Amino acid sequence: MSLRTAVQTLFESTHPSALDTAGQGKKLAIVVPCYNEQEVLPTTIRRLIEVRDKLALEGLIRADSSITFVDDGSRDQTWRLIEDGARAHAGVHGIKLSRNRGHQNALIAGLLHVDGDMVISVDADLQDDLGAIRQMVLKYHDGCDIVYGVRSHRASDTFFKRFTAESFYRLLDLLGVDVVFNHADYRLMSRAAIEALKAYREVNLYLRGIIPQLGFRTDVVTYERAERFAGESKYPLTKMLALAWNGLTSFSPSPLRWITGIGIVVSLFSFGIGGWALTATLVFHTAIPGWASTVIPMYFLGGIQLLSLGIIGEYVSKIYLETKARPRFIIEKTV
Ligand code: UDP
Ligand code: MG
Repeated sequence: MSLRTAVQTLFESTHPSALDTAGQGKKLAIVVPCYNEQEVLPTTIRRLIEVRDKLALEGLIRADSSITFVDDGSRDQTWRLIEDGARAHAGVHGIKLSRNRGHQNALIAGLLHVDGDMVISVDADLQDDLGAIRQMVLKYHDGCDIVYGVRSHRASDTFFKRFTAESFYRLLDLLGVDVVFNHADYRLMSRAAIEALKAYREVNLYLRGIIPQLGFRTDVVTYERAERFAGESKYPLTKMLALAWNGLTSFSPSPLRWITGIGIVVSLFSFGIGGWALTATLVFHTAIPGWASTVIPMYFLGGIQLLSLGIIGEYVSKIYLETKARPRFIIEKTV
């Protein structure tokens, strides 16, 4: 029995509503980014309300805890469904972004907009087991500021997705970026952690890279990730690659250093070749090296230079975007 449960049992036996009072003090805000989720949204709204009400009954959260859906510029009936939900149920809210800004921006719009002593972000498609919300809240009451939802396995993924995800996490790790393996934005953050997150003003957002940098007391909750409940993935390969690219280039200048390193090695190598060609000509009077030794290094160096320029360009464009400090989202209306 953990200390907390022991204390609770003691409290409950002397004062039946002790736990209630503790939970009622803490407000939970759930944030759900939605992009063209009309197929699944009615079920998601219903299930999340069930989860919230159960937790409130248990006394783990306040009864007026909120559920906020962020419509990321959907082109289907998503916003209408959110509006209906907000009218029909207390504590259900909607934020409509003025256009599609992508999952990460929709998420931060929600996270920064809601109040609540703790905030949980979860996808709209019911892939993430909602049962983990209770565990996250329990860990919050245990004193954690950030609780990561981590997938116990990736059996529901295709081989391609498993392979690319694994390689990506390993690469990030190699580059010295702090990431939680198999965690995808299903997490709890305390008010303190959210306030700290506000200081990160970057436009190229990769939350999974930023949150571990915040520090605080963190923990992990493992859960099984199901198939999408309805509709299809809103993360096509192009969006996935864009996110991965952001993760790589926003957190580590290492790729740039690698290129510099390769540049140095290649240059030394070409000096060697040059020296050898000179010796062959001046000392041994053998035939000068021919076409291959001239043209191959030329192309090779040309390629390396282009690659280096491209990568430098990538960092420069990031600086450019950051210095503009454009808003990451624009809220059109709320209900
Ligand atoms: N999403 C979003 N904006 C986008 C793409 C996705 O708000 O441009 C939301 C989407 O509605 C879902 C979550 O982000 O709630 C995760 O997307 P999805 O489930 O399609 O990704 P997958 O699980 O296939 O990686
Ligand atoms: Mg999904």
